[in-house]
Amino acid sequence: MTVKLFNDDHYLREFDARVLGATDEGVELDQTAFYAEAGGQAGDTGTLNGFRVVDTRYDGDTILHVMEQPTSLEPGDVVHGVLDWDRRYRIMKLHTASHIMEHYLWMHLGYAERTGSFVDDKKDRADYLYEERLDPVKLKKAEEDTNTFLSEGHPVSITVDESGIRNWVCGPVEMHCAGAHVRNTAEIGIVRLKRKNPGRGVERVETSLAE
Ligand SMILES: [Zn+2]
Repeated sequence: MTVKLFNDDHYLREFDARVLGATDEGVELDQTAFYAEAGGQAGDTGTLNGFRVVDTRYDGDTILHVMEQPTSLEPGDVVHGVLDWDRRYRIMKLHTASHIMEHYLWMHLGYAERTGSFVDDKKDRADYLYEERLDPVKLKKAEEDTNTFLSEGHPVSITVDESGIRNWVCGPVEMHCAGAHVRNTAEIGIVRLKRKNPGRGVERVETSLAE
C-alpha cells in the first residue's frame, strides 16, 4: 500500500520516496504525490529521478507510476519525484469547477443523474441522463452563474470521516469526492460550458478553462 501524500496536500509537487518495486508495469514507491487515476480524474505525469512518468494508476491498493521507458530504478533506491505541475493544477481547477457547474446545471435545467465523468488538463466532461436536449439559453445561464460564483472566491474545505470517506464542501455544494481540488474558487478564473450529445438520452457538458 502506497502512502498517498496527495491526500494531505493537493499542492505538493515534489517529494522524496523509496522504491518498493520496479517492473515493466511501473514503479511502486512507499509514498507518492502522484494522483493515481480514480473517481474520473486522470493520473498524474512527471518525473522520478528525471525518468518520465507518463501515467499513474492503481493496481489494487498499490499505486503504479507508469514509466515512458525502462529505467535503472531498483527496490531500495531513493527517488525525487516531480509532478508536471501546470498539468495537475489545470486538472485541480477543472475538477473543482465541475462541481460548481453541476450545482448550477441542476438549478437551471433540473436534476438529472450523472452517469459518468472524466477530468484531465484539457477539460472536464460529465454525462447526464437528460431526456431532452439541453436548452442553450439555460446552459448559458448556468455558465454565467458558475463564473460569478467562482469569481467570488469561495474557500474549499475537505473533511474525512472515521471510515475514510472524503467530503468536499464549497459554499452550498457538498459531495463525496477524493479528487484533487484548488483551495479557493478564485484560483480557477473563467470557465466555458459546451454541450455534446454522445448518445440517445445522454447529454454531455464539457467544462474548459477560458484563456
Ligand atoms: Zn471533486
